[in-house]
Amino acid sequence: KLSSREFHPDNTVVDVDGLKIGDGSFVTMAGPCSIEGLDQIRETARMAKAGGASVLRGGAFKPRTSPYAFQGLEEEGLKYIRQAADEFDMKVITEVMDEAHIDMVAEYSDILQIGARNMQNYKLLSAVGQTGKPIGLKRGIAGTIDEWLNAAEYIAISGKSDVIFIERGIRTYETATRNTFDLSAIPIIKKLSHFPVIADPSHGTGVWDLVTPMARASVAAGADGMIVEIHPDPANAWSDGQQSLNEKTYLKMMDEVNILVKAM
Ligand code: PEP
Ligand code: MN
Repeated sequence: KLSSREFHPDNTVVDVDGLKIGDGSFVTMAGPCSIEGLDQIRETARMAKAGGASVLRGGAFKPRTSPYAFQGLEEEGLKYIRQAADEFDMKVITEVMDEAHIDMVAEYSDILQIGARNMQNYKLLSAVGQTGKPIGLKRGIAGTIDEWLNAAEYIAISGKSDVIFIERGIRTYETATRNTFDLSAIPIIKKLSHFPVIADPSHGTGVWDLVTPMARASVAAGADGMIVEIHPDPANAWSDGQQSLNEKTYLKMMDEVNILVKAM
């Protein structure tokens, strides 16, 4: 298989318009769950950059459990995140949910995110694989490692795009956390695939004070980076505030993560 370590023994270093992922460095992607407006995404970009993140995250198309919940600012939001990232010299990762929106999302972003709910949307995977943009592939809500690797294969086989695996936790019987963050998936993916893997301790736990310990653990487990949700005012975030770090807790996490990165 094209995405397997057997086919390609050396690590693939993903080039995100000059930013390298999978070269032994640890890349941080940070930002709000949802883009809420220009001021909010600019302020969050400032925070993200102050902590050392090089990629700004934020959703403009949101896969919400309830159809009555905020669904995202769509193209307006994409314009805001691009503007904020450019101001702070950052790259953009944002989710694309629909084949019809791929060209639009690709115009404003550097990495296309496939959300957990779309990990097995095979038509979408094939279509994003033809863009040539790196694809951040979230693990499905109940995705096995084998299903996740096969999803990556749909992207790899269809064209020019590289894959960045994103471990974001899976559904188990446990209710103390939103998802069960599968730390072992990190070294398993490193063993089975040449593509980089990053951790999403925010969706992996769903609880803000568990994010930092799992971020630290991700470094130790060998992740190539992480994606974390941060917000200037988590209590008033439009989505996922309960798992978002504020400026103070985010900066503290980054100090701790940097100590571990240096020690690795
Ligand atoms: C997100 O990144 O905000 C998101 C919706 O994540 P997931 O697809 O992992 O649930
Ligand atoms: Mn979220």
